[in-house]
Amino acid sequence: MQSYWERETLRHFDLIVVGGGIVGLSTALFYAESHPNSRIAIMERGLFPEGASTKNAGFACFGSIAELKHDVQSMGAERTIELVQKRFSGLRLLRRTLGDQAIDYREVGGYELCFEAPDLELINFFNNLLEPTLGMRPYSVVANNDFGFSGRVKSMIKNALEGTIDTGKMMRALQRKVGLLGVQTFTQSAVTKIEDKAGGKIVCVETTSGPVKLLAQQVALCTNAFSNDFLPKVDVQPGRGMILVTKPNPVFDWEGSFHYHDGYHYFRTVNGRLLLGGGRQLDREGEATTEAGINDSIKAQLIADIKSFIAPNVAFEIDLCWSGTMAFGADKKPIVQRIDDCTVAGIRLGGMGVAIGMGVGKELAGLLS
Ligand SMILES: Cc1cc2nc3c(=O)[nH]c(=O)nc-3n(C[C@H](O)[C@H](O)[C@H](O)COP(=O)(O)OP(=O)(O)OC[C@H]3O[C@@H](n4cnc5c(N)ncnc54)[C@H](O)[C@@H]3O)c2cc1C
Repeated sequence: MQSYWERETLRHFDLIVVGGGIVGLSTALFYAESHPNSRIAIMERGLFPEGASTKNAGFACFGSIAELKHDVQSMGAERTIELVQKRFSGLRLLRRTLGDQAIDYREVGGYELCFEAPDLELINFFNNLLEPTLGMRPYSVVANNDFGFSGRVKSMIKNALEGTIDTGKMMRALQRKVGLLGVQTFTQSAVTKIEDKAGGKIVCVETTSGPVKLLAQQVALCTNAFSNDFLPKVDVQPGRGMILVTKPNPVFDWEGSFHYHDGYHYFRTVNGRLLLGGGRQLDREGEATTEAGINDSIKAQLIADIKSFIAPNVAFEIDLCWSGTMAFGADKKPIVQRIDDCTVAGIRLGGMGVAIGMGVGKELAGLLS
């Protein structure tokens, strides 16, 4: 039952953002900064965002040699440089906007584990390719002697410009900043339908106290892997990812973000624990889902990797295990576009949304303006 005040005032917004992940929050942030008196709401169906932004590994990365090699093969050198530039400048934007301390940013380097001798010519090629964009030659070969990995790891390719963040702190800092600008965030509020109306949209929301219809002049869809609910024809494929965290053990004190198998598997330490994830490529079909859940065979492989070469002979116990959902498509570029007169979308962030998420939100806010 709605009151007069709710019907006449409180349900009216200039902008409704659907999705409270890094893109939705960033869109609201930049729109609020450029439109200080506007009424902005974020609708998030979970208590915490239920996609990827609070589920990820906190790697502040922009590309390993193995991944970039595939990118150059599939889309050419020029577009690969553009992609790296977008990620690199996106990370800078995130750090500048929220502050390194608030997000616990540490430029500890990204390490690609090599099970064979590294291809020095390829490393030279990518250093030459990226030097003009990054202002330095980021890649170098380092020996596997600081971290205690097994002898299966022959060496590592270090990317000096990569690092880690604390994902929880980053999202909290972003939520706080958005709140200080007067943006209202409604959690446990799932948008079920968006209908046309003269000069705007009717946004139908399912809340814990029943359905509500809100009115918005503009709508920003920031629903990433779940976007087909609103945009069935857009090329967005869900990809589930899993993360395990061990109980603390003083051995887990390495600094760096580590990855192997073309970046599909990754690990780091956090507060004396090992955080390990990925492996989606081991069951592509099974993981192409928007359902949360744990794939037992992928989990078993991740655990086997710890025992085999990441921390051989180290006793560990898994403390936590969770999944999150990413969005992919034929093209690696995110979709940032106007859908109709009143709707825009910033979706399909792929596997490096920490790097590009805020930049996508900023671009989307610009489209709304
Ligand atoms: C396991 C895992 C590890 C990752 N690790 C890294 C990493 O280390 N570094 C990195 O750069 N990237 C990483 N990523 C990718 C990164 O987290 C994502 O690219 C990024 O968070 C996407 O942000 P987003 O805001 O577009 O989407 P999301 O965070 O998924 O936000 C979309 C939101 O929309 C909400 N929503 C959907 N439908 C509705 C609806 N109808 N009504 C209301 N709300 C709705 C969802 O609940 C969700 O919260 C990882 C992802 C996963 C899953």
